[in-house]
Amino acid sequence: MVKSEDMDVNGNILMEKYELGRLLGQGSFAKVYYARDVTTGQSVAIKVIDKDKISEDGLIDHIKREIHIMKLVRHPNIVQLYEVMATKTKIYFVLEYAKNGELFDKVVTGKLKEQTARKYFHQLINAVDFCHSRGVYHRDLKPENLLLDEDDNLKVSDFGLSAFAESRRQDGLLHTTCGTPAYVAPEVITRKGYDGDKADVWSCGVILFVLLAGYLPFNESNIVDTYRKIWKSDFKFPNWIQPDARRLLSKILDPNPVKRATISKIKESSWFKKEKKSNQPCLDNSLASSTTNNQESTRPPSMNAFDIISLSHGFDLRTLFEEPRLQKEARFTIWRPASVILSKLEEIGKNVRMKVSKREAGLLKLEGEKEGRKGILSIDAEIFALTSCFHLVEVKKSNGDTLEYQKVLDEGLRPGLEDIVWLQGDEQEQKVSEQDQ
Ligand code: AMP
Repeated sequence: MVKSEDMDVNGNILMEKYELGRLLGQGSFAKVYYARDVTTGQSVAIKVIDKDKISEDGLIDHIKREIHIMKLVRHPNIVQLYEVMATKTKIYFVLEYAKNGELFDKVVTGKLKEQTARKYFHQLINAVDFCHSRGVYHRDLKPENLLLDEDDNLKVSDFGLSAFAESRRQDGLLHTTCGTPAYVAPEVITRKGYDGDKADVWSCGVILFVLLAGYLPFNESNIVDTYRKIWKSDFKFPNWIQPDARRLLSKILDPNPVKRATISKIKESSWFKKEKKSNQPCLDNSLASSTTNNQESTRPPSMNAFDIISLSHGFDLRTLFEEPRLQKEARFTIWRPASVILSKLEEIGKNVRMKVSKREAGLLKLEGEKEGRKGILSIDAEIFALTSCFHLVEVKKSNGDTLEYQKVLDEGLRPGLEDIVWLQGDEQEQKVSEQDQ
């Protein structure tokens, strides 16, 4: 049941408008409740975000992004944002209610039937295609972000917040602070610059594999091995996956984004086209827009950040929508031997007046020389070898003040490490082609 300290409720009614029900789920910084609009009786999900928590964690720009993106994308297979409300301490996202919960829950019990997988894949591709047509790329597609409504139609959720939520969920687990890499496209890992649409298509391929196989295609016991497999798209089909599905998956999970199947190619594939007629709500984009327009009259209008500000009496929410760039961790992929990275980190340490000490293999600690606002600033820099010449460096604050950390990150670590991201000229070409083999 809803606790009054959790919310600005009167009895069980939020903002004189929504009758709150059970807790549907909890992320690391948000709780999601079932609720009913008292005037229309419509079921909704209300995501409650503690304002203090997001200011602390520098999530404000993520929230802003989520509001903006959700306003841009209205589609039957995308969780709709109906309304955003704010009080002194909380932000409430009033969302379309996905009664049947996460698609992930269906997959953890094993693979789906081929035609069920196809139905969800059609709906996923339609949603993603629609987003791309609006210039919006999800970048964190995975079954946990795919919800189901009461008719078992797929609803893509969690735009701006998902990437952060994932890395938070992983917090504290050894070597997994990069979030779940399992759905990430190879070119995203190598930071060679990537197209959001191709990266999303890759994730759709991983999701399709999971739906058909019941397990992940790339899932090694540690992140480095998983990255290696993703990079080469090294996976095996279980024997029950049919040849036409294999052909499609191989075309989607092409590590070369240029050669990877596009959404129109996916839609033309024989596996995708099979039994399409029997899969009821695979609406095309034009139909999707007319559906949402019809729905609009019975729903509260969505609001943007400025609407919220103007509605928030007695409390200045402007700072909530300014652009801080606070980050707890940062990652760099670097085409250099570990020795070069180590000496660069030592040089950066000197420049920012921090003592650099080596801990276990691949782990460096940078420590401030004097007490800061919240004690001695301490930063871990961990180096993961992807090949002998290609490394992932993860930088994370382990103690001290976030703003002081951000300063070191922006003025020391980021420019310093970005300075050595690439090998020079021919050497780099050679390494890239070695990897592409
Ligand atoms: P999130 O903070 O978005 O990860 O959500 C936490 C939990 O609430 C997840 O386990 C979801 O299953 C559930 N949830 C989130 N959004 C909705 C929604 N629109 N409808 C139903 N359940 C939801």
